[in-house]
Amino acid sequence: MNHPKPVLPGNAIGVLGSGQLGRMFAIAARRMGYRVHTLSPDEDTPTGQVADLEVNAPYEDLDAVRKFAAAVSVVTFEFENVPAETAAAASRCAPVRPSGHVLHTTQHRLREKTFLLNSGFPVTEFRRITSLADLTEAAHAIGLPAILKTAGFGYDGKGQFRIRDQGELPAAWASLGEKEAVLEAFVDFECEISVVAARGLNFVFVHSGAIENYHRNGILDISIAPARVPPEVAQRAIEITREVLEKLEIVGVLCVEFFVRKDGQLLINELAPRPHNSGHFTFDANITSQFEQQLRAVCGLPFGSVNQLAPASMANLLGDLWNDCEPDWAAGASIPDVKLHLYGKLSPRPGRKMGHLTALASTTEQALSDVQRARALLRGKQIATSVQLPSL
Ligand code: AMP
Repeated sequence: MNHPKPVLPGNAIGVLGSGQLGRMFAIAARRMGYRVHTLSPDEDTPTGQVADLEVNAPYEDLDAVRKFAAAVSVVTFEFENVPAETAAAASRCAPVRPSGHVLHTTQHRLREKTFLLNSGFPVTEFRRITSLADLTEAAHAIGLPAILKTAGFGYDGKGQFRIRDQGELPAAWASLGEKEAVLEAFVDFECEISVVAARGLNFVFVHSGAIENYHRNGILDISIAPARVPPEVAQRAIEITREVLEKLEIVGVLCVEFFVRKDGQLLINELAPRPHNSGHFTFDANITSQFEQQLRAVCGLPFGSVNQLAPASMANLLGDLWNDCEPDWAAGASIPDVKLHLYGKLSPRPGRKMGHLTALASTTEQALSDVQRARALLRGKQIATSVQLPSL
């Protein structure tokens, strides 16, 4: 079979979106001698600060998008909420990988869940909601507690309402702005895991293994790799992930987030068609990071080894950490096997992802303990033993 020619070092890659995922992609790409252009409505962005060119234009400015795409050899994205028309406009001037249909499916919760259900993948029971009457009926059918989520453009637990009893239905419907939504059964899970995987132009598939994830207020807080789940659960998650990438014909990186039920069954929570926060540890812990695999996939290069050099744990640094004063960077950097990543964001708002820490150690427990100790030190807490460790 004939594959398109590879995009080689020296060429420019276009990134739609300009957050931390684009920043780490740009670092990986520049290290391999590529040029990186980024387009987003913002200025002085995490990606723009390390890219060769930062284009400041709304995603809806299709002339700017076409001009942007015409100046690069391939376009990818770091933010899946880029409008589908933007990807379509870019694709007239350069290959877009993964292609726009992947964005179209994954940026809308209802489309994504319907795709997964119709393809035979295990998903949480859900209903489409377009009115309070729908919601009342669905709550009755699914049972409570349940979670109401906006159908489109939600991330990091935003646009969600956890409904405990019937009395909360009107408030839940109002809180989401009475827009199309999805009601999901509440899953009483044992733990959450994810698999970050990549698929190339030649259909080769590589993966990170299963990663164990802990959320706080709907936002990823801590990841542990490899996940402390039975090998057959990890293997099943990898197999499902492979099938999802194949079904979506991904060229690039995609993360599948799973709930692991108490009986070991897996349910897909959601998909992200790009590098994922839970895969950030690969930047320090793997021979090839998720960002470099994205680069290699979209450029048509062979994948690098996914070997993980040591057990690892990642802790997010949210804006809350600032709490009116700068974190104690020197104290946080005092644990030698912990790496600090900051994204160059100018205003540390609560809940905003400002950076992360990755610890490498001889065991996952040690990595988890080190990363939490380092984060406590950033907060000025010297007594590291007060930190609560997640356990399975
Ligand atoms: P999401 O943004 O939909 O991935 O949700 C963020 C986090 O909220 C998930 O990682 C879970 O920790 C929790 N969550 C979301 N949906 C459910 C559900 N149906 N049942 C239980 N917990 C959920």
